[in-house]
Amino acid sequence: MSELNVVISGAGIGGLSAAVALRRQGIRATVLEQAPQLGEVGTGLQLGPNATRVLYSLGLREQMEQMSLVVQESVQRRWDGTVLAKTTLGAYAAERYGTPYLQVHRADLHSALHQAAVDPAGEGPAADVLTEAQVTSIDEADPVRPAAVTAAGERHEADVILGADGIRSAVREHIGGPAEIVDSGDMAFRTLIDGQAVKDDPATRFLLDWQAANFWLGHNRHLVVYPIRGMSAINVVGVVPVSEQVAREWRSPSTSEDLVTAYDGFESRVRSLLSKPKTDPMLWALKRQDPFSRWSRGSIAILGDAAHAMVPYVSQGASQAIEDGFVVAEEISEASPDEIPAALKSYAARRQELAGFVQAAALKKQHEFHLPEGPDQEQRDAGMRAEASPIGAGLDRIYAGTPPRKGALTAS
Ligand SMILES: Cc1cc2nc3c(=O)[nH]c(=O)nc-3n(C[C@H](O)[C@H](O)[C@H](O)COP(=O)(O)OP(=O)(O)OC[C@H]3O[C@@H](n4cnc5c(N)ncnc54)[C@H](O)[C@@H]3O)c2cc1C
Repeated sequence: MSELNVVISGAGIGGLSAAVALRRQGIRATVLEQAPQLGEVGTGLQLGPNATRVLYSLGLREQMEQMSLVVQESVQRRWDGTVLAKTTLGAYAAERYGTPYLQVHRADLHSALHQAAVDPAGEGPAADVLTEAQVTSIDEADPVRPAAVTAAGERHEADVILGADGIRSAVREHIGGPAEIVDSGDMAFRTLIDGQAVKDDPATRFLLDWQAANFWLGHNRHLVVYPIRGMSAINVVGVVPVSEQVAREWRSPSTSEDLVTAYDGFESRVRSLLSKPKTDPMLWALKRQDPFSRWSRGSIAILGDAAHAMVPYVSQGASQAIEDGFVVAEEISEASPDEIPAALKSYAARRQELAGFVQAAALKKQHEFHLPEGPDQEQRDAGMRAEASPIGAGLDRIYAGTPPRKGALTAS
């Protein structure tokens, strides 16, 4: 077991992935979470093979197989239902990248990561995950042993402090990263629709006949729909132009009627779907940052949305956070205490280019998905129809992920 210890600010998917990866490397981690209870939003999550490969190698294969659906393909349609393109996933992706493309409920993944981090029976030193522990400052009086200080005044000294504290990261600010957060101009409705109601309706049953991620593209808006939890629920992400109120408040409750109205004019199967019983839709302002290079300073580094917040149009923010957790743990495990600053720089060097590529790919999709009818849209559609490879070059690069330092990752 390593003598190093790490403090992580934030127990989201990024922070917990880092805690599990550190544990597998024999490193003790303490995770400080500001919320009174652990949890994730009650919606779905798509995980690319780049993330599932890491999760399997961290010992989560069995849990992932139980909680997930393997996505067979991603189907892109115009707003009127015309199919434009299909990305082949399923066995093809599993063979090409080593692990499959999955759809999960966020809470299930979050709870599996939490369990893997703290389970006393697991391999390596169990992590401590503390709630109601908001990190309010970092004391660097001893730069080799900085301390995260919580609102309650507790000091948590460590060899490394990791900021996995999301887009509004205080740790990023502390190390001199950029403060500017960009309003993407979009917001997303998020809800889960009752799977049985979708199955009982001949108009919508197709969503459960085949495990696919379904996209409908329209002017200034698009819709993403996919089943989770053994097809008992259908996850919906509906992207539309942001209102001033939601841009200001970041999150806001919405209504089923607003969601249905937002997709007026889309093919009738969309209205049939969106009218069904569902959890109360919530609206999320979609914010992002431009890529930047300051991911670490001394013994402190950032990961996940704190380091590369992006619009969710290639469904990769959490997958990138999972990759960060693995790579930073790998780098720390090879370092002696005085090599930590160099190890954190090496982590950033291994992750930054790909994370920046994903941020840019997601922005490009925002433009392409939302084109008005006209020559640009016709050109986009022709390009999508002409795509010959099962997975386009950009996604292929993303799904291949960051190469591990120590040879191929093995699922256990
Ligand atoms: C509509 C939508 C759909 C998406 N779909 C996908 C998808 O299909 N696939 C995908 O991979 N990604 C997707 N994403 C992106 C993904 O949700 C995020 O990138 C990911 O959850 C970021 O994880 P994180 O752990 O870095 O940050 P967060 O989830 O923001 O977690 C940060 C944690 O830190 C805590 N915290 C903050 N400040 C402090 C502090 N000072 N002290 C202690 N704790 C603190 C917070 O309470 C929180 O628990 C989507 C995003 C949206 C908005």
